[in-house]
Amino acid sequence: MADPKGFLKTQERELPKRRPVSVRLMDWKEVYEQQQSGELKRQAGRCMDCGVPFCHQGCPLGNLIPEWNDLTWRDEGRQASERLHATNNFPEFTGRLCPAPCESSCVLGINQPPVTIKQVEVSIIDAAFQNGWVTPHPPERLTGKTVAVVGSGPAGLAAAQQLTRAGHTVAVYEREDRIGGLLRYGIPDFKMEKKQIEQRLAQMTAEGTRFRAGVEIGRDIAWDDLRARYDAVVVATGATVPRDLPVPGRDLSGVHFAMDYLVQQNKAGAGDRVDDQISAEGKHVVVLGGGDTGADCIGTAHRQGALSVINLAIGQQPPTERPESQPWPMAPTVFEVASAHEEGGERVFLASTVEFLRNEVGEVRAVRVAETEYLDGRRVPKSGTEREVPADLVLLALGFTGPERDELEAQLRLPFDAKGNLERDAKYQTTEPGVFVTGDAGRGQSLIVWAIAEGRATASAVDAYLEGTTVLPFPVKPTDRPISV
Ligand SMILES: Cc1cc2nc3c(=O)[nH]c(=O)nc-3n(C[C@H](O)[C@H](O)[C@H](O)COP(=O)(O)OP(=O)(O)OC[C@H]3O[C@@H](n4cnc5c(N)ncnc54)[C@H](O)[C@@H]3O)c2cc1C
Ligand code: SF4
Repeated sequence: MADPKGFLKTQERELPKRRPVSVRLMDWKEVYEQQQSGELKRQAGRCMDCGVPFCHQGCPLGNLIPEWNDLTWRDEGRQASERLHATNNFPEFTGRLCPAPCESSCVLGINQPPVTIKQVEVSIIDAAFQNGWVTPHPPERLTGKTVAVVGSGPAGLAAAQQLTRAGHTVAVYEREDRIGGLLRYGIPDFKMEKKQIEQRLAQMTAEGTRFRAGVEIGRDIAWDDLRARYDAVVVATGATVPRDLPVPGRDLSGVHFAMDYLVQQNKAGAGDRVDDQISAEGKHVVVLGGGDTGADCIGTAHRQGALSVINLAIGQQPPTERPESQPWPMAPTVFEVASAHEEGGERVFLASTVEFLRNEVGEVRAVRVAETEYLDGRRVPKSGTEREVPADLVLLALGFTGPERDELEAQLRLPFDAKGNLERDAKYQTTEPGVFVTGDAGRGQSLIVWAIAEGRATASAVDAYLEGTTVLPFPVKPTDRPISV
């Protein structure tokens, strides 16, 4: 522990500032400014190096948080980066995008604001890239075994990097034209600029991982052909089926799934020509759904020049403080003000969508909403409370029901569980020997940190399957979940 009195001397939690709203709405760059190194060290010095570091159990990756807090405080950036990479392949993604369950379980959080763990993490990895400390780690010998990873989101990439470093010859297949999964085409640039993906892919390519973008398994190559070609297959295809809202008017022009909208903007941002792009420019926008995807739509709509943005959520507004029912060290559900919420628009809770209303040419003109009431534990529209909310563009950000099934069922006969996710055993293997499932495809829509943790664990299971033994880490079981009451 660097400074035994750090948490007494520095009681305030300081995060870097967000750029002014009026400035950041004019571009697509990340919203945070860089933190001064003196302030970062003071914040890292608040870590108490607890005898039982509860931050570890909050993190599915088991990140060695007190160690790299200490190294940051001591200005040992290179070593901090090594300790960070010991448990996390991609801290530049989690350091920007993770909701940081580690901070919810930080011991300091019992009676003070928790350590700024996520900020320390992103500062370590940014400095590591800037200083050239992130170098390729190619394997010392090749095993001669081949692995196909299908899907290039954080789960697939983590599995691929671990397996390549273990000496296997790994090819990552991705149906989109660029590698990255939701990091590439879901998450907007203002949350994470795509150069973060490029610099990590450069390292992985130099290590020997092969990337095959623009190839859809199940259509361009049949799943069973792929299985026959490779010694093992990792299915990392995500949970991409969006939840729909089958109310009257759903088929009107102007009502879209959030992902159709976000993917197009990410492609346009990458310089691609997008014909008939769905745009919020000059429109009244209604975003249905209060999660990450909804917030990403809000930020995107404001940058495109929306006239107004209203976010409707069916549930009630969460409390601003940790509720008694979700005590430390649980990750509580609290009212979040993401950068996108700060940029404008209105958030309405307990709003049930009843119908989409059309104008004379068949486009959406308004959403009819009612207050939500709870009947027998079910959320239903309360009669007599209906009103119209003007809308030229409606974005459905209502979550995802699970992975796409058809080709996997037809070609590999893989079973799905009661929640619609791909079934796997305690070692991530499906009923088809040598075929493994990782990330959202097996867990359901989750978080990047869980996807990376699962990718690492799946690589360990695949290595053991191919070699009979493994030294790769196995950080999470498929059944592990955040702690809850
Ligand atoms: C809009 C949005 C914002 C989010 N923001 C956050 C956030 O801020 N923080 C956070 O922690 N989590 C966030 N999440 C959740 C997070 O992105 C996911 O949990 C994570 O990306 C899952 O990783 P994955 O590798 O399992 O799958 P994905 O990232 O979904 O990647 C799966 C990939 O497989 C490809 N694929 C599918 N089928 C095939 C096939 N047959 N052949 C070839 N390729 C195929 C897909 O094209 C896709 O690229 C967000 C999710 C969304 C939708
Ligand atoms: S729980 Fe908080 S204070 Fe304790 S070691 Fe982890 S980060 Fe440091």
